[in-house]
Amino acid sequence: MDTPSIDDLPRPSVGRLAPSPTGLLHVGHARSFLLAWWHARASGGRIVLRLEDLDGDRVKPGMAEQCVRDLAWLGLDWDGPTIVQSQGTAEIDAAVTELVARGLAYPCVCSRKEIEAAQSAPHPGQEKGRYPGTCRGKWPTLAEAERATGKPAAARLVVEPGRIELVDAFAGPFASDPWSEVGDFPIARRAGAAAYQLAVVVDDGRAGVTVVVRGDDLLSSTARQWLLQRALGLPHPAWHHVPLVVDEGGRRLAKRSDDLSLSELRTRGVPAERVVAWVARRSGLPDAEPAAAERFVHAFTLKNVRRTPLVLDRGALAELVDGR
Ligand SMILES: [Zn+2]
Repeated sequence: MDTPSIDDLPRPSVGRLAPSPTGLLHVGHARSFLLAWWHARASGGRIVLRLEDLDGDRVKPGMAEQCVRDLAWLGLDWDGPTIVQSQGTAEIDAAVTELVARGLAYPCVCSRKEIEAAQSAPHPGQEKGRYPGTCRGKWPTLAEAERATGKPAAARLVVEPGRIELVDAFAGPFASDPWSEVGDFPIARRAGAAAYQLAVVVDDGRAGVTVVVRGDDLLSSTARQWLLQRALGLPHPAWHHVPLVVDEGGRRLAKRSDDLSLSELRTRGVPAERVVAWVARRSGLPDAEPAAAERFVHAFTLKNVRRTPLVLDRGALAELVDGR
């Protein structure tokens, strides 16, 4: 008799909120996090909170606590304890070791300057600092590369040429070619710190994340994360890349737009409900009174969210800040 294996059982959906505490959260972040949270709750799924604090140079003291306060102020909650990326790096390090041992990644001792010098003129579509593969196949382990060169070694994933075609559950089909855009990309930095893409993939895998709703500025990272998931035998989540909030000139809000930070709005007496209502009105949701985040869960569907950037023009700003 066939017994269903664990793989046949429907997996409960698991979403995530993943702020990086490198600056104050602003209206644009609020919008992405509300969409992620509404989507998770509307589908009856779980959602975890992960603080992506591995970028040691850019993380600002106290900002992690501020992120958590801001999300709670918006009325969002999450399941299980807050995951702090920097407190769980052992599995990320193990993934680096595994990938190097399997020949899917290799040590690299190049400095940023050397890489930029090797790439005299980037072609269109190439990122500055595309890695030309200088160190590929030179040393079997990071330790050996360091012994041989006297330099600290990073690790890079071997990327084969070719387009990767994926389907975003919100934005539709998209393709990218990581080999020509970035080349063999870092999975561990020279000081031993995990690189962003690998940390995201390992931590999503560990938390069992099945649904990712995030800003479409991260669309270009997706193929790299897909490659890492394949290399590590992890399932791919259903990606949903939503357009960002932009200013009147079409520029994305920067973390330095502190006057639109949630903490500044709060200081100026803007109630959380006004921020939530402002986002809800632009996400295909009917009004609710009071505009608490949870009041919108039942009516939410990503299908009603527009695929064009949300423009924060003068009128939208007045509505947000002054409530008119
Ligand atoms: Zn190198």
